[in-house]
Amino acid sequence: MVSGAEDTVLGGERGYPADGEVNGVNGGLQNGIQHANGVKADEVDEAFIRSAVDKSAINALRMALYQMTGDPDLATMKITKEKIRGGALYDYVLSTEDEQIVKDKATEYLLKGPHTTPPPPSVSEARKLMNLFGGRMIADNDVLPGYEELCYDEFPRGVDWTKDAPPPPKEIITSHKVVIIGAGLSGIAAAIQLKRLGIPYVVIERQENLGGTWLWNSYPECRVDTLSYLFQYKFEKNYKWPEFFAARQDTLNYLEHVAAKYGVKEDFQFNKEVVAAVWDEASSSWQLKVKNKKTGVEEDLAANSVISAAGLFSVPNLPDIPGITDYKGHMFHTTEWDHSVDYKGLRIAVIGTGSTGAQLIPNMARAAKSLAIYQRTPNWIVTIDGYRAPVPSNLNWMFDNMPYYWNWYCYAAYFRSLDLAAIQVRDPAYEAKGGCINERNDGVREALTNYIHKKMAAKPELIPKLVPKYAPLIRRLVMDNGFYDALLQDNTELVTDGIEKITEKGIITKDGKEREFDLIVLAGGFKTSKYFFPINYVGRKGRKLDDLWSKDGARSYLGMVMPGFPNLFSLYGPNHQPRGGSLYSWAEIWARYAVASVVWMIENKAKSMDVRPEVYEDYQSRLDAEVKKLIWESPEGASYYVNEYGRSGVNMPWTTSEYHEMVIKPNPEDFNIS
Ligand code: NAP
Repeated sequence: MVSGAEDTVLGGERGYPADGEVNGVNGGLQNGIQHANGVKADEVDEAFIRSAVDKSAINALRMALYQMTGDPDLATMKITKEKIRGGALYDYVLSTEDEQIVKDKATEYLLKGPHTTPPPPSVSEARKLMNLFGGRMIADNDVLPGYEELCYDEFPRGVDWTKDAPPPPKEIITSHKVVIIGAGLSGIAAAIQLKRLGIPYVVIERQENLGGTWLWNSYPECRVDTLSYLFQYKFEKNYKWPEFFAARQDTLNYLEHVAAKYGVKEDFQFNKEVVAAVWDEASSSWQLKVKNKKTGVEEDLAANSVISAAGLFSVPNLPDIPGITDYKGHMFHTTEWDHSVDYKGLRIAVIGTGSTGAQLIPNMARAAKSLAIYQRTPNWIVTIDGYRAPVPSNLNWMFDNMPYYWNWYCYAAYFRSLDLAAIQVRDPAYEAKGGCINERNDGVREALTNYIHKKMAAKPELIPKLVPKYAPLIRRLVMDNGFYDALLQDNTELVTDGIEKITEKGIITKDGKEREFDLIVLAGGFKTSKYFFPINYVGRKGRKLDDLWSKDGARSYLGMVMPGFPNLFSLYGPNHQPRGGSLYSWAEIWARYAVASVVWMIENKAKSMDVRPEVYEDYQSRLDAEVKKLIWESPEGASYYVNEYGRSGVNMPWTTSEYHEMVIKPNPEDFNIS
C-alpha cells in the first residue's frame, strides 16, 4: 500500500499545536531544548553505519524527521511489508533509494543544528503519522494504543484524579490501603501508579528481591525474545539497553533502575508470601495472612484492595514422571537452577524443549560430555536478527540527537508485533479448500519447515522428529538460540521415545532403553492454570475462587476481576495473555485499570466494587465465542495455553486494539458498588 495519500498530515501547519489531548513531553528530549550543537559529520556518518537491527528503523527515522521538518518528500515514500521470522511478522520498509534519501536528509538536518524540538503531536495528528509509518490507514481503536506506544506523554498510561475537581483530602486518600502481591514487572507498574497518587500500598514478594520470573529464572542464557525497545515501560524514556534483546541480568538491572528512580522499592517487603486471603464484609477489606519465608512466622495484613501481580509463570511444572524421586544424581527445575553444580563435562539430560529448554540447550550442549534432549512435542522455532547483538553507540547517539527517533523506533517494534494476531485466526473458506488455518499461517509453516530442513541438512534423519504436526502459533513460537546447531553436535542425542520412568541413575524410555546421567534438568514449564496459587481467595459469603471456577477452570472479567471477590484485581489473570504488544505495556494497562478503580472508589466514597455476575457471564459467552475463531484449542498442538478442561484459559482472544478499548478504564456500571 502506498503511503503518499497522507499529504495533509501536518494540516498545513508546523509545530503541532496541542489540541488538548497532549499532556506531556517527548521521549529523551525536552520540548524546546536546543540540541545537536557541535554535531560532527563523521559522527552522523558513523551513526548510520549500523543504527539498528531491523529495517523498520529507517522508516522510524523518516517519521521522526518528518515530524521535525514537515518535508513533504518524506510523506510520499512507499512502504512495503517485508517478511521476518518466517513471515510471522513484517518489517515496514522503504525502498533502498528512499532509505538513502532519508539518511541524507537526516544527515543534513542533524548537521544544520541547533534545532528547536516542537511539542509532540496531538492524538489526531499522531494518527496521521501512524498511517504514514505503516503505509495504511489504522483503525479507530488502533489510535490510542498506538499513541501510548509512541510515548509522547511523560507518563503515557498514568492514572490521575478526576480533572477539574480538587483531589480528595489526604486523609481520605490514605484511608484506602492497597496490597500488591508480587514484585515482578506488573507489580512494579502498579506500585508506581499508586505512588504517583499518594495512595498507600505495600508490595509483598516471596523472593528475596524484585524481578519476578526474571529473578526466579537464572538458568544459563536466559534472555528476552522480544526487542527490548518494546519490552520495556513506556514511562521510562530512552533507557540505554546494552543489547537489543536484554539478557536476564540486564532485565533485572532495568527493573532495579526503574524501581529506584520512581521510589517504590522502599515499599517492597521481600521474603514474604501471602498464603491466605478472606474478604471481610463488615470492614469491606481483605484480611491477608502473610508468611515470612525466613522465619515461618505468619502475620495479618488488611487491605481495602488487593492487586494480584503474581504472574502467569510462577508455579513450576515438575513433571509427574514415575520414579522421579528415586534419582540419585543432580536434578532441578529450570526455575531452581543449582549454581553450585558445575555441569561442564557431565552427562546431562534436559526434559522439555519449550522456550526455556530450547534457550538453554545450546549452552548445555557446549559444556556437556553428552547431552540427551528429551522432546515430547516438537515446537516451531524461528530466528531473530540481532538476538545477541550489543546496541551500538551509534544508535544511542541517534536516540539522543534525533528528536522523536526513539519514540518511532519503539513504535516500530510495537506495530510489527500486531501482525502476529492474524495468523491465529481460522479462515473457514481457506480451510474448505484444503488449507490449514489460513493462508499466512500456511506460509509461515512452509518457511519454518524449510528452515528446519536447511539447519538439519547434515542430519536429515532427525528432520521428521523436528517438524511439528500442528500449525504454527497454536503454541508460542520458540526462538532459535542455537537449538538445531546443538542437535548437530556429536555429543548430543534427540530422544523422542516417551519417558517410561526415572531410575536411580537415569531415564528409561518406552523402548526400554536406559540412559545414565549426572544431571537431569527439568525444563517442564509452568502450571499456568493455577492462578494465584497458593492463595485460594475466599470472597463474599465464604465462596472460594475454586468454587467459581469449578466448571472449566479459571475465568475473569477482562482478565482482572471476578464476581463475589470485590476489590481484587488481577494483573496477568485468566485469559489475560495478550496477542500483541509487550507485557510491560500490558502491565501498565492492567495497572491503570486496577488503580483507576481504586481512584474511583476513593473519589466516590465507595468501599467496594464487585463485578456484576451478569456482566461476568455475558463476557464469558463472548469470550468463548471469540476463542472458537482461533486456534489454541486445537488438540494436536495443545500447550499451556489450554487448561485441564481443554479450554483456552490463558490467552486473551481479542486483539490488542479490541481489548485495549475494553480496559482503558473501569466502567462503574459493570460493578455492584457498596
Ligand atoms: P513450556 O513451553 O510449557 O515447555 C515445557 C516443556 O516441557 C515442553 O517441551 C513439554 O512437552 C515438556 N514437558 C512437560 N512435562 C513433561 C513430561 N512429563 N514429560 C516430558 N516432557 C514434558 O514451558 P517453558 O519452556 O518454560 O516456557 C513457558 C513460557 O515462558 C514460554 O512460552 C514463554 O512465554 C516464556 N519464556 C520465554 C522465554 C524467552 O525467550 N523470553 C524463555 C523461556 C520461557 P510438551 O510440549 O509435549 O508438553
